[in-house]
Amino acid sequence: MKLWLDGGLQDIESARVSVFDHGLTVGDGVFETVKAVDGRPFALTRHLDRLARSASGLGLPEPDRDEVRRACAAVLEAVPVPLGRLRITYTGGHGPLGSDRGDQGPTLVVALGESARRPDSTAVITVPWTRNERGAVTGLKTTSYAENVVALARAREHGASEALFANTVGRLCEGTGSNVFVVLDGEIHTPPVASGCLAGITRALTVEWTGARETDLPLDVLERADEVFLTSTLRDVQAVHLVDRRELPGAPGPVTAKAMRVFEERAGDDLDP
Ligand code: PMP
Repeated sequence: MKLWLDGGLQDIESARVSVFDHGLTVGDGVFETVKAVDGRPFALTRHLDRLARSASGLGLPEPDRDEVRRACAAVLEAVPVPLGRLRITYTGGHGPLGSDRGDQGPTLVVALGESARRPDSTAVITVPWTRNERGAVTGLKTTSYAENVVALARAREHGASEALFANTVGRLCEGTGSNVFVVLDGEIHTPPVASGCLAGITRALTVEWTGARETDLPLDVLERADEVFLTSTLRDVQAVHLVDRRELPGAPGPVTAKAMRVFEERAGDDLDP
C-alpha cells in the first residue's frame, strides 16, 4: 500500500514522519477527508479551499494545491478502491523536541482508506460538553480532535454513532464529525457557522440543493423537530432515528428522504474527472 509523503509515493510500512513533528506533539496541523468514488475525488476544490483556510488560520504556509492534487491523483491510482476516503494531513513539521515548528517546513501526507456505505439512519446522543463558538481555532479543521474523540467514545458507549454539541450559549452546533439539520413544519434548518460548527462541505451542498435555512437553534429543538439528519463526507445525508431517548419512528422521514435523493442525484456533478 502506498501513500504520499515528502513529495512522492512511499510504502505505508516504511514511510516515516519525525516523532517530533509539531502535528504529533501539539496538534499543530490541519486535515481533510475527501470521498473518492471509483478513483474520482468528490468536491476536491472545496476541500482544498478549506485546507488552505484552516492552514492560514493556524499560520501555516499555504499548502501547494498542485502538489496536493498530484498527491491525491497518485494515491488514487496506486490504491484502487470503489469507495474510498483520502486523508490529507498537513502539519507544522518538526522542530527541536517537537516544541516548535522548526525550519524544515510543513509535513504533507496523503493516504487512502477504503470506505463502506453508511446505513440510511442512525442514533445520536447529546453531550454535556460545549463547543466554543469564539475560540482561536473555531471553524478550522485542525488535527486537535481530542474533544471529538471523547464525545464519540461516549456516543458509542450508548450505542450511538454520533454525539451532538451545543455551543457555550446553549445553541445547537454540530456533531464530532458531521453537521446537523432539523425539519420543523416541513422546513429544513441547520445552525449557522457562527454557532461554532465546521463549514461542512456536505452541509453547504445540502443547503444549496434543498434550500435549507441557516437558523440559530436552541439545543432542545431536538426534542420537537419532526425530523433530524446529519451530513458529512462519510455519511452523505443520513437520517437520525434516535436522539438520546427520543425516537423518531419512520426515519428517514419524507423531507430527509428527499434531501437524501437530491444529494445522491446531484453529487455526481461534483466528482473530479
Ligand atoms: N463537523 C466536524 C467537526 C467534522 O469533522 C466534519 C467532517 N469533516 C463535519 C462537520 C462535516 O464536514 P464535511 O461535510 O465537509 O465532511
